[in-house]
Amino acid sequence: MIVDRQGRRFRNLRVSLTAACNYACSYCVPDGKRLVAAQDELSAEALARGVAYLIEAAGIERLRITGGEPLVSPRLDAFLVAVAKLDLDDIALTTNGQLLARKLPQLQAAGIRRLNVSLDTLDPQAFRRIARGGDLASVLAGMDKASAMGMRIKVNMVPMRGQNLDQVLPMLDYCMARGFELRFIELMRMGHLARDSNAFLQQFVGLDALLNVIGARYGYQQVDAALDATALRYQIPGHGHFGIIANESVPFCRTCSRLRLSSTGWLHGCLSSGNRHFVGDLLEKPRHQALPGLQRLLVKALADKQELAFSGGVTVMKVIGG
Ligand code: SAM
Repeated sequence: MIVDRQGRRFRNLRVSLTAACNYACSYCVPDGKRLVAAQDELSAEALARGVAYLIEAAGIERLRITGGEPLVSPRLDAFLVAVAKLDLDDIALTTNGQLLARKLPQLQAAGIRRLNVSLDTLDPQAFRRIARGGDLASVLAGMDKASAMGMRIKVNMVPMRGQNLDQVLPMLDYCMARGFELRFIELMRMGHLARDSNAFLQQFVGLDALLNVIGARYGYQQVDAALDATALRYQIPGHGHFGIIANESVPFCRTCSRLRLSSTGWLHGCLSSGNRHFVGDLLEKPRHQALPGLQRLLVKALADKQELAFSGGVTVMKVIGG
Protein backbone atom coordinates (compact mmCIF):
# COMPACT_ATOMS: atom_id res chain seq x y z
CA MET A 1 0.00 0.00 0.00
CA ILE A 2 1.38 3.41 -0.91
CA VAL A 3 0.84 6.03 1.81
CA ASP A 4 2.23 9.58 2.01
CA ARG A 5 3.55 11.62 4.98
CA GLN A 6 0.05 12.93 5.69
CA GLY A 7 -1.29 9.38 5.86
CA ARG A 8 -3.11 9.74 2.55
CA ARG A 9 -3.58 6.83 0.18
CA PHE A 10 -5.61 6.14 -2.92
CA ARG A 11 -8.97 4.50 -2.18
CA ASN A 12 -11.30 6.07 -4.73
CA LEU A 13 -10.68 5.74 -8.43
CA ARG A 14 -12.41 7.85 -11.07
CA VAL A 15 -12.23 6.55 -14.58
CA SER A 16 -13.01 8.95 -17.41
CA LEU A 17 -14.52 6.68 -20.01
CA THR A 18 -14.33 9.28 -22.75
CA ALA A 19 -13.50 12.95 -23.13
CA ALA A 20 -16.52 13.34 -25.41
CA CYS A 21 -19.59 15.10 -24.06
CA ASN A 22 -23.04 15.98 -25.40
CA TYR A 23 -22.95 19.24 -23.40
CA ALA A 24 -20.49 22.12 -23.56
CA CYS A 25 -21.00 23.67 -20.11
CA SER A 26 -19.88 27.28 -19.86
CA TYR A 27 -17.55 26.58 -16.90
CA CYS A 28 -15.98 23.51 -18.51
CA VAL A 29 -15.65 24.36 -22.20
CA PRO A 30 -14.70 27.97 -22.97
CA ASP A 31 -15.76 28.26 -26.60
CA GLY A 32 -18.93 26.18 -26.40
CA LYS A 33 -17.69 23.61 -28.91
CA ARG A 34 -19.15 20.15 -28.56
CA LEU A 35 -16.47 17.79 -27.24
CA VAL A 36 -15.38 14.80 -29.26
CA ALA A 37 -13.61 11.64 -28.14
CA ALA A 38 -9.81 11.77 -28.13
CA GLN A 39 -8.20 9.82 -30.98
CA ASP A 40 -6.25 7.52 -28.70
CA GLU A 41 -8.81 6.48 -26.10
CA LEU A 42 -8.18 3.05 -24.56
CA SER A 43 -10.48 0.09 -25.15
CA ALA A 44 -13.05 -0.87 -22.51
CA GLU A 45 -10.96 -3.96 -21.77
CA ALA A 46 -7.75 -1.98 -21.20
CA LEU A 47 -9.55 0.51 -18.93
CA ALA A 48 -11.15 -2.31 -16.94
CA ARG A 49 -7.73 -3.98 -16.66
CA GLY A 50 -6.49 -0.64 -15.34
CA VAL A 51 -9.13 -0.76 -12.61
CA ALA A 52 -8.20 -4.36 -11.73
CA TYR A 53 -4.47 -3.54 -11.57
CA LEU A 54 -5.10 -0.43 -9.49
CA ILE A 55 -7.21 -2.38 -7.00
CA GLU A 56 -4.12 -4.49 -6.42
CA ALA A 57 -1.37 -1.88 -6.75
CA ALA A 58 -3.02 1.02 -4.94
CA GLY A 59 -5.71 -0.55 -2.77
CA ILE A 60 -8.60 1.01 -4.68
CA GLU A 61 -11.93 0.21 -3.00
CA ARG A 62 -14.46 2.36 -4.84
CA LEU A 63 -14.91 3.19 -8.49
CA ARG A 64 -16.71 6.15 -10.03
CA ILE A 65 -17.28 6.18 -13.77
CA THR A 66 -17.19 9.66 -15.25
CA GLY A 67 -16.05 11.64 -18.29
CA GLY A 68 -16.63 13.68 -20.49
CA GLU A 69 -20.06 12.13 -20.49
CA PRO A 70 -19.75 8.40 -19.75
CA LEU A 71 -23.17 7.55 -21.18
CA VAL A 72 -22.18 8.67 -24.70
CA SER A 73 -19.24 6.28 -24.81
CA PRO A 74 -19.56 3.21 -27.04
CA ARG A 75 -17.28 1.50 -24.48
CA LEU A 76 -19.78 1.86 -21.64
CA ASP A 77 -21.51 -1.51 -21.88
CA ALA A 78 -18.32 -3.60 -22.15
CA PHE A 79 -16.66 -1.59 -19.38
CA LEU A 80 -19.63 -2.11 -17.05
CA VAL A 81 -19.67 -5.85 -17.65
CA ALA A 82 -15.91 -6.08 -16.93
CA VAL A 83 -15.81 -3.93 -13.78
CA ALA A 84 -18.92 -5.58 -12.30
CA LYS A 85 -16.76 -8.71 -11.86
CA LEU A 86 -14.04 -6.94 -9.88
CA ASP A 87 -13.62 -6.85 -6.13
CA LEU A 88 -14.90 -3.33 -5.42
CA ASP A 89 -16.96 -2.08 -2.48
CA ASP A 90 -18.90 0.29 -4.70
CA ILE A 91 -19.35 1.35 -8.32
CA ALA A 92 -21.01 4.70 -8.97
CA LEU A 93 -21.48 6.95 -11.97
CA THR A 94 -21.43 10.68 -12.62
CA THR A 95 -23.54 11.78 -15.55
CA ASN A 96 -25.32 14.79 -16.96
CA GLY A 97 -28.41 12.57 -17.10
CA GLN A 98 -29.28 13.28 -20.71
CA LEU A 99 -29.19 9.59 -21.76
CA LEU A 100 -29.91 8.18 -18.33
CA ALA A 101 -33.38 6.77 -18.92
CA ARG A 102 -32.25 4.52 -21.74
CA LYS A 103 -29.03 3.35 -20.05
CA LEU A 104 -30.55 2.42 -16.69
CA PRO A 105 -30.92 -1.32 -17.38
CA GLN A 106 -27.18 -1.69 -18.10
CA LEU A 107 -26.26 0.38 -15.07
CA GLN A 108 -28.49 -1.66 -12.82
CA ALA A 109 -27.15 -4.95 -14.21
CA ALA A 110 -23.61 -3.80 -13.35
CA GLY A 111 -24.65 -3.30 -9.73
CA ILE A 112 -24.70 0.49 -9.81
CA ARG A 113 -27.01 1.82 -7.10
CA ARG A 114 -25.72 5.36 -6.74
CA LEU A 115 -25.78 8.09 -9.34
CA ASN A 116 -24.52 11.65 -9.31
CA VAL A 117 -26.44 13.71 -11.81
CA SER A 118 -25.10 17.14 -12.72
CA LEU A 119 -27.83 19.74 -13.06
CA ASP A 120 -27.33 23.46 -12.60
CA THR A 121 -30.85 24.82 -13.03
CA LEU A 122 -34.53 23.96 -13.39
CA ASP A 123 -35.09 26.85 -15.76
CA PRO A 124 -35.07 25.59 -19.39
CA GLN A 125 -33.62 28.85 -20.74
CA ALA A 126 -30.81 28.98 -18.20
CA PHE A 127 -30.22 25.28 -18.85
CA ARG A 128 -29.61 25.96 -22.53
CA ARG A 129 -27.33 28.88 -21.70
CA ILE A 130 -25.19 26.92 -19.21
CA ALA A 131 -25.16 23.37 -20.63
CA ARG A 132 -25.25 24.39 -24.29
CA GLY A 133 -26.55 20.95 -25.24
CA GLY A 134 -29.28 18.49 -24.37
CA ASP A 135 -32.63 19.32 -22.81
CA LEU A 136 -33.82 19.69 -19.26
CA ALA A 137 -36.90 17.45 -19.54
CA SER A 138 -34.80 14.38 -20.43
CA VAL A 139 -32.61 14.86 -17.36
CA LEU A 140 -35.59 15.19 -15.02
CA ALA A 141 -37.30 12.15 -16.56
CA GLY A 142 -34.07 10.12 -16.26
CA MET A 143 -33.70 10.97 -12.58
CA ASP A 144 -37.32 10.05 -11.83
CA LYS A 145 -36.96 6.73 -13.61
CA ALA A 146 -33.69 5.94 -11.80
CA SER A 147 -35.24 6.83 -8.49
CA ALA A 148 -38.28 4.63 -9.19
CA MET A 149 -35.82 1.77 -9.83
CA GLY A 150 -34.37 2.30 -6.34
CA MET A 151 -31.19 4.16 -7.26
CA ARG A 152 -29.84 6.74 -4.79
CA ILE A 153 -29.42 10.09 -6.46
CA LYS A 154 -27.20 13.01 -5.65
CA VAL A 155 -27.57 16.08 -7.79
CA ASN A 156 -24.48 18.23 -8.41
CA MET A 157 -25.06 21.93 -8.96
CA VAL A 158 -22.39 24.58 -9.53
CA PRO A 159 -23.91 27.85 -8.24
CA MET A 160 -22.68 30.85 -10.22
CA ARG A 161 -23.39 34.54 -9.76
CA GLY A 162 -25.21 35.96 -12.77
CA GLN A 163 -26.07 32.47 -14.02
CA ASN A 164 -28.11 30.36 -11.62
CA LEU A 165 -27.93 31.77 -8.09
CA ASP A 166 -31.71 32.28 -8.22
CA GLN A 167 -32.00 28.51 -8.68
CA VAL A 168 -30.43 27.51 -5.36
CA LEU A 169 -33.75 27.36 -3.48
CA PRO A 170 -35.87 25.93 -6.34
CA MET A 171 -33.25 23.20 -6.84
CA LEU A 172 -33.15 22.49 -3.11
CA ASP A 173 -36.94 22.23 -2.90
CA TYR A 174 -37.09 20.04 -6.01
CA CYS A 175 -34.44 17.65 -4.71
CA MET A 176 -35.73 17.43 -1.15
CA ALA A 177 -39.26 16.72 -2.37
CA ARG A 178 -37.91 13.70 -4.29
CA GLY A 179 -35.39 12.41 -1.76
CA PHE A 180 -32.42 13.42 -3.92
CA GLU A 181 -29.44 14.93 -2.10
CA LEU A 182 -28.43 18.23 -3.66
CA ARG A 183 -24.73 19.01 -3.51
CA PHE A 184 -23.43 22.43 -4.39
CA ILE A 185 -19.96 22.44 -5.92
CA GLU A 186 -18.04 25.67 -5.53
CA LEU A 187 -16.84 26.81 -8.92
CA MET A 188 -13.29 25.56 -9.44
CA ARG A 189 -10.38 27.29 -11.13
CA MET A 190 -10.10 24.68 -13.85
CA GLY A 191 -9.32 25.04 -17.55
CA HIS A 192 -10.06 28.54 -18.86
CA LEU A 193 -11.15 29.68 -15.37
CA ALA A 194 -7.62 28.99 -14.10
CA ARG A 195 -6.31 31.50 -16.65
CA ASP A 196 -9.05 34.10 -16.32
CA SER A 197 -9.36 35.19 -12.68
CA ASN A 198 -11.92 37.85 -13.51
CA ALA A 199 -14.34 35.39 -15.05
CA PHE A 200 -13.81 33.11 -12.07
CA LEU A 201 -14.24 35.77 -9.38
CA GLN A 202 -17.27 37.34 -11.02
CA GLN A 203 -19.15 34.05 -10.92
CA PHE A 204 -17.76 32.38 -7.80
CA VAL A 205 -20.20 31.76 -4.94
CA GLY A 206 -18.51 30.65 -1.72
CA LEU A 207 -19.76 28.62 1.20
CA ASP A 208 -20.90 31.57 3.35
CA ALA A 209 -22.80 33.29 0.55
CA LEU A 210 -24.51 30.03 -0.32
CA LEU A 211 -25.46 29.28 3.28
CA ASN A 212 -26.91 32.80 3.53
CA VAL A 213 -29.20 32.11 0.58
CA ILE A 214 -30.34 28.80 2.07
CA GLY A 215 -30.57 30.21 5.60
CA ALA A 216 -33.02 32.89 4.43
CA ARG A 217 -35.58 30.12 3.83
CA TYR A 218 -34.54 27.18 6.00
CA GLY A 219 -32.94 26.43 9.35
CA TYR A 220 -30.10 23.97 8.82
CA GLN A 221 -27.43 22.25 10.89
CA GLN A 222 -24.16 20.65 9.88
CA VAL A 223 -24.00 16.88 10.34
CA ASP A 224 -21.08 14.43 10.25
CA ALA A 225 -19.66 13.22 6.94
CA ALA A 226 -17.16 10.43 6.23
CA LEU A 227 -13.54 11.35 6.98
CA ASP A 228 -12.47 11.37 3.33
CA ALA A 229 -15.75 12.87 2.10
CA THR A 230 -15.32 15.94 -0.06
CA ALA A 231 -18.70 17.44 0.82
CA LEU A 232 -19.73 19.22 4.00
CA ARG A 233 -23.14 17.82 4.86
CA TYR A 234 -26.13 19.69 6.29
CA GLN A 235 -29.58 18.70 7.48
CA ILE A 236 -32.75 20.71 7.13
CA PRO A 237 -34.85 19.08 9.85
CA GLY A 238 -38.05 17.58 8.51
CA HIS A 239 -37.03 18.14 4.88
CA GLY A 240 -33.75 16.43 4.00
CA HIS A 241 -30.04 16.90 3.53
CA PHE A 242 -27.79 18.89 1.26
CA GLY A 243 -24.03 19.06 0.78
CA ILE A 244 -21.46 21.64 -0.19
CA ILE A 245 -18.19 20.74 -1.89
CA ALA A 246 -16.28 23.80 -0.79
CA ASN A 247 -12.99 23.39 -2.65
CA GLU A 248 -12.05 27.03 -2.09
CA SER A 249 -13.68 27.86 1.25
CA VAL A 250 -12.84 24.67 3.17
CA PRO A 251 -10.12 22.81 1.26
CA PHE A 252 -10.08 19.06 1.71
CA CYS A 253 -6.69 18.13 0.26
CA ARG A 254 -5.49 16.73 3.59
CA THR A 255 -7.95 13.86 3.37
CA CYS A 256 -8.12 13.42 -0.40
CA SER A 257 -8.06 9.75 -1.40
CA ARG A 258 -8.82 10.15 -5.11
CA LEU A 259 -6.96 8.86 -8.10
CA ARG A 260 -8.03 9.51 -11.68
CA LEU A 261 -7.47 7.47 -14.82
CA SER A 262 -8.17 9.25 -18.10
CA SER A 263 -9.68 7.62 -21.17
CA THR A 264 -6.30 7.94 -22.88
CA GLY A 265 -4.40 6.10 -20.14
CA TRP A 266 -3.00 8.87 -17.93
CA LEU A 267 -3.03 8.72 -14.13
CA HIS A 268 -3.72 11.98 -12.28
CA GLY A 269 -3.05 12.10 -8.54
CA CYS A 270 -4.45 15.61 -8.15
CA LEU A 271 -6.87 17.81 -10.11
CA SER A 272 -4.76 20.79 -9.23
CA SER A 273 -1.45 19.43 -10.51
CA GLY A 274 -0.22 19.64 -14.10
CA ASN A 275 1.59 16.32 -13.60
CA ARG A 276 0.21 13.14 -15.09
CA HIS A 277 1.66 9.67 -15.59
CA PHE A 278 1.14 7.49 -18.65
CA VAL A 279 0.04 3.92 -17.90
CA GLY A 280 -1.64 3.04 -21.22
CA ASP A 281 1.33 0.85 -22.22
CA LEU A 282 1.39 -0.95 -18.86
CA LEU A 283 -2.28 -1.83 -19.21
CA GLU A 284 -1.45 -3.90 -22.29
CA LYS A 285 0.93 -6.06 -20.22
CA PRO A 286 0.10 -9.06 -18.07
CA ARG A 287 -0.43 -8.35 -14.40
CA HIS A 288 2.97 -9.49 -13.07
CA GLN A 289 4.78 -7.29 -15.61
CA ALA A 290 2.53 -4.28 -15.14
CA LEU A 291 2.30 -4.03 -11.34
CA PRO A 292 5.91 -2.97 -10.48
CA GLY A 293 5.85 -0.15 -13.06
CA LEU A 294 2.40 0.90 -11.95
CA GLN A 295 3.51 1.07 -8.34
CA ARG A 296 6.42 3.37 -9.23
CA LEU A 297 4.03 5.74 -11.00
CA LEU A 298 1.55 5.63 -8.13
CA VAL A 299 4.24 6.90 -5.76
CA LYS A 300 4.71 9.89 -8.09
CA ALA A 301 0.98 10.45 -8.49
CA LEU A 302 0.48 10.49 -4.71
CA ALA A 303 3.30 13.03 -4.38
CA ASP A 304 1.38 15.30 -6.80
CA LYS A 305 -1.37 15.91 -4.22
CA GLN A 306 -1.50 19.40 -2.77
CA GLU A 307 -0.53 19.72 0.89
CA LEU A 308 -3.48 21.79 1.95
CA ALA A 309 -5.59 23.58 -0.61
CA PHE A 310 -6.70 23.25 -4.17
CA SER A 311 -5.06 25.96 -6.23
CA GLY A 312 -6.56 25.23 -9.64
CA GLY A 313 -5.26 23.67 -12.80
CA VAL A 314 -5.32 24.43 -16.50
CA THR A 315 -6.48 20.90 -17.34
CA VAL A 316 -10.10 20.87 -18.44
CA MET A 317 -12.32 18.77 -16.17
CA LYS A 318 -13.75 16.69 -18.96
CA VAL A 319 -10.30 15.37 -19.81
CA ILE A 320 -9.50 13.98 -16.40
CA GLY A 321 -13.00 13.27 -15.23
CA GLY A 322 -14.65 15.69 -12.80
N1 SAM B 1 -20.57 14.61 -17.86
C1 SAM B 1 -20.64 14.20 -16.49
C2 SAM B 1 -21.45 15.19 -15.69
O1 SAM B 1 -21.94 16.17 -16.25
O2 SAM B 1 -21.62 14.97 -14.49
C3 SAM B 1 -19.31 13.92 -15.82
C4 SAM B 1 -18.18 14.87 -16.06
S1 SAM B 1 -18.36 16.51 -15.44
C5 SAM B 1 -16.77 17.19 -15.86
C6 SAM B 1 -18.28 16.22 -13.69
C7 SAM B 1 -18.63 17.39 -12.80
O3 SAM B 1 -17.64 18.38 -12.91
C8 SAM B 1 -19.95 18.05 -13.10
O4 SAM B 1 -20.76 17.99 -11.95
C9 SAM B 1 -19.58 19.47 -13.42
O5 SAM B 1 -20.53 20.37 -12.95
C10 SAM B 1 -18.25 19.62 -12.67
N2 SAM B 1 -17.40 20.68 -13.18
C11 SAM B 1 -16.82 20.82 -14.39
N3 SAM B 1 -16.07 21.95 -14.44
C12 SAM B 1 -16.18 22.54 -13.22
C13 SAM B 1 -15.63 23.73 -12.62
N4 SAM B 1 -14.84 24.54 -13.29
N5 SAM B 1 -15.96 24.00 -11.34
C14 SAM B 1 -16.78 23.18 -10.64
N6 SAM B 1 -17.31 22.05 -11.14
C15 SAM B 1 -17.02 21.74 -12.42
